[in-house]
Amino acid sequence: MIYEEKYPNAKPQDRLYDDVLLVGSPGPCAVCGRQTRFIDICWEAHICSDECNNALCDEFMQGLKDYYEVSDEYIEELAGHEAPSCNF
Ligand SMILES: [Zn+2]
Repeated sequence: MIYEEKYPNAKPQDRLYDDVLLVGSPGPCAVCGRQTRFIDICWEAHICSDECNNALCDEFMQGLKDYYEVSDEYIEELAGHEAPSCNF
């Protein structure tokens, strides 16, 4: 579900989570292109839903794995301790 529907009463500056924020100006979601007024300050990008946020997180993690050539097991081990969660 997109944030606009999930949080119909959110106002500018409202924080849904630690890093998802409603801003005044709409822009295209970084994943699907849908117009949204929500941004994720972690990605510094407009993001329209948890689904898209998770997709962006997965893409980011995949990029990390490719860049550092680390295994899934290593990432999972890290995620168990200090990496940010991809699931809300
Ligand atoms: Zn989206």
